[in-house]
Amino acid sequence: MNCSDACAATMIDSHNHIHFRAFRQDLPEVMHRAASGGIRAMLTVGIDPRDCSKALDIARIYQGVYVSLGIHPQNGGRFAGQEVFGLKDLCSEPVVAIGETGFDLYRTPESEDAQKDLFLAHIDLARELKLPLIIHDRAAHVQTMAVLNDRGAWSLGGVFHCFSGDAALAREVVRKGFLVSIPGVVTFRNSTQLKEVVQTIPLECLLVETDAPYLTPEPFRGKRNEPLFTAQTVEEIARIKGVEPDEVARQTTVNFCRLFLAGKQLKSMDGT
Ligand SMILES: [Zn+2]
Ligand SMILES: [Zn+2]
Repeated sequence: MNCSDACAATMIDSHNHIHFRAFRQDLPEVMHRAASGGIRAMLTVGIDPRDCSKALDIARIYQGVYVSLGIHPQNGGRFAGQEVFGLKDLCSEPVVAIGETGFDLYRTPESEDAQKDLFLAHIDLARELKLPLIIHDRAAHVQTMAVLNDRGAWSLGGVFHCFSGDAALAREVVRKGFLVSIPGVVTFRNSTQLKEVVQTIPLECLLVETDAPYLTPEPFRGKRNEPLFTAQTVEEIARIKGVEPDEVARQTTVNFCRLFLAGKQLKSMDGT
């Protein structure tokens, strides 16, 4: 069964960067394809103060677009913790999360200390604003878990986006009460570890995401990623778990609402 037919208007792309330059030429078409292909809502993630403002501009134009405010760990050293607190001024209705924050020791290992400073500031801001955290953990599982443990940050709630750990780490993350978000990488033939994570973790603890414009799933690899392609991840999770795509779409939508909307009504891209 084709997922877009099976689960019309139920999928949520829980992490993308739809406000990035990569979509400047054709954003209306991208949003139209998403809405008519079954994407009910999305969360676009800001990576520095100016970028967060751009994310909010898009959310004001398109219903069903939510925003997370943060300074990406790869920007460690370029911004101080104080600038994270400055994001408070941008906190408005479409904002439902703080991040992405954490460590990227794959791309920017040299700025680990600065990344940690930013991470700590995000945790304090999330606590002050009572918002959940979006965690970016790349090649930094030990460091990321240590900060969350030391700061007692699990009580804030949150998600490890683009999860890149093994099944044991995923189990630990959900045991502490965070969700695990699955990107399109799961469609790659050689993504054995991520497929095992999907197999291990109950559907009630998973989100789906594109991280568009990056990480394009099969069979579109090589093209720019877009929210519509959330469907490929939903289908692959359904295949791995032996359930209908519709069930994956519905449950991950429920999970999104539970984590980010805390009882508030979901605003859909189709206006319902
Ligand atoms: Zn990330
Ligand atoms: Zn991202």
